[in-house]
Amino acid sequence: MMLFTHALFGAALGRIVQNRPASYLVGVASHALGDVLPHREHPLKIDAPLVAAALTLLGLRFGWASPECMGALGGITPDMEHLPTMLGWSEPDREFFPTHGPYPEPWLHSMGHTPEDDRVQIGLAVASLLVLCANTSDEPPLHPNQRREGASEPAEGM
Ligand SMILES: [Zn+2]
Repeated sequence: MMLFTHALFGAALGRIVQNRPASYLVGVASHALGDVLPHREHPLKIDAPLVAAALTLLGLRFGWASPECMGALGGITPDMEHLPTMLGWSEPDREFFPTHGPYPEPWLHSMGHTPEDDRVQIGLAVASLLVLCANTSDEPPLHPNQRREGASEPAEGM
């Protein structure tokens, strides 16, 4: 699965967990689920800018040490073991993560087949974005012209 999707999925779980170490660990675990779901792979030249943008936006929106960012980092950490393989320093069968390397069970990676489209991956990314965008405050969102009860009048000219 794309790093981009792993990052968003981990971040969404981090938003739910709201604890930095636990978010990182849940992000790592979510990587396994993401890899098992049916998905297509995409070249790093597409995935790298997307995941860089996602991590930057998560950092700016939630804070660089937020549970959301820790979940995203946990989500992409397992794929870092592809780097020595890609650089030719190691063989794929030396990879450690259960859904990588020589899969002992074919269903551990994309349920053993490559789907014809990206609907599962796109669905997971969109669902993760919805969790990340959800307003978790008890207060209903305000219309731009509304004010909360007891809030002071805005200064003239604002
Ligand atoms: Zn992976």
